[in-house]
Amino acid sequence: AFPDKIKLAVWEKQNHKCAICGKEFDYQFMEGDHITPWRDGGRTTIENCQMLCRECNRRKGGK
Ligand SMILES: [Zn+2]
Repeated sequence: AFPDKIKLAVWEKQNHKCAICGKEFDYQFMEGDHITPWRDGGRTTIENCQMLCRECNRRKGGK
């Protein structure tokens, strides 16, 4: 999981919008997601983090 410091920075960078559906959400309704999955060698950095709303994150993870 990403620390709040990274998640907040990415949330600001994305203008508070979900990276998948593009809708705006408050920080508390979003979750950090690894662009390159952790198991594929993706690191826990700002560059590899995108913020998704809970619904998109659940949909992505539920595949
Ligand atoms: Zn979304």
